[in-house]
Amino acid sequence: MIELFSYQSYSDAVLENSLSRYSGRVGEAFPVPVTISPIETDSFWAVGYPVKDGFRLEVTTGALGRIQAVWETALALSDTLPPEQQIALIGHPDHAVETSFSWLLQHELNHHAIGHFTYLDGMGLAEGNSPYGLGVVQHTGKRKKPKPHGLSERELAEVHMCLELQTDHDAIDIVLGAYSSENWLLFRYYATCILIVMFIIEAEERRLDEPLRHHPLAATRLFQLIGHLVELPTIPAIKRAYEEKLDHLPAEYLPTADELVAYRSEVVAPVMAASQIIAEACGIAEAWDDVGSAEDMFADIDAITLDQADSPSDFNTKGAKQWAELKSINTDLLKSLGW
Ligand SMILES: [Zn+2]
Repeated sequence: MIELFSYQSYSDAVLENSLSRYSGRVGEAFPVPVTISPIETDSFWAVGYPVKDGFRLEVTTGALGRIQAVWETALALSDTLPPEQQIALIGHPDHAVETSFSWLLQHELNHHAIGHFTYLDGMGLAEGNSPYGLGVVQHTGKRKKPKPHGLSERELAEVHMCLELQTDHDAIDIVLGAYSSENWLLFRYYATCILIVMFIIEAEERRLDEPLRHHPLAATRLFQLIGHLVELPTIPAIKRAYEEKLDHLPAEYLPTADELVAYRSEVVAPVMAASQIIAEACGIAEAWDDVGSAEDMFADIDAITLDQADSPSDFNTKGAKQWAELKSINTDLLKSLGW
């Protein structure tokens, strides 16, 4: 296990990078000072909570250890596959570990940036089985606070799943950045690094086997990630048409059909393929069955973008169905968060 002393400087450095990634993409500095406290234990968990003068993260040495171990297994599995099915890294495997770890931090930062802790009346949020509990947690004080907004345990777990998808959404946008045809390899690499953390959390949910789940299925988080990747090349065109106050999207603003087809096969398809390797590396190969075929997943993404589908029965894959189940709670939540 990494020494606690070096873990502190490692996590401080990754946090600093995550904060500058945040400000570079959002266009303003993170609103409050952030500190990170390393916790020495083999368990995987991370907790974020507001403090008087900012935002504090507690992340275990086991979280980094688990990311390292899953990456190692994933790359060993990948090596046994034909070259075109392997995970393509950029640089040293340690950089992949760091990128996955920084995703975990970026995810926590965005819980704060979206306003989740204000909504939760100052309570904390946990990934994994923290000593404070699962999902929405009371991190300090001996007396148990009532649940925010008078929600029951079950309602709060559902709300937490929506908060997870919201922060994933924003953190994905920050980590991937804007579309450019020169960045295909980067998009593919970052998305793969993100999946490592999502599937580790899925493995934790399955291992704990609690009556209530606190994180959406990895298949649902993957569905949102793939949806983002699919949309990515069209976003600059949509923005441009919006800025020019056009009531339609001129075809010449979009990448060519050839570019979009090549992008799907060189970026989106390899990320789907990597998700199967990663599920296996996390010891939950069966979780990948929830993902469904690439054909079904693309049909579900098209159903949203082309037909505005939003009810679970409109979709084929488990991930899209759960996304749709959570959508109405999520819409109300975003309104109460002021978005
Ligand atoms: Zn979270």
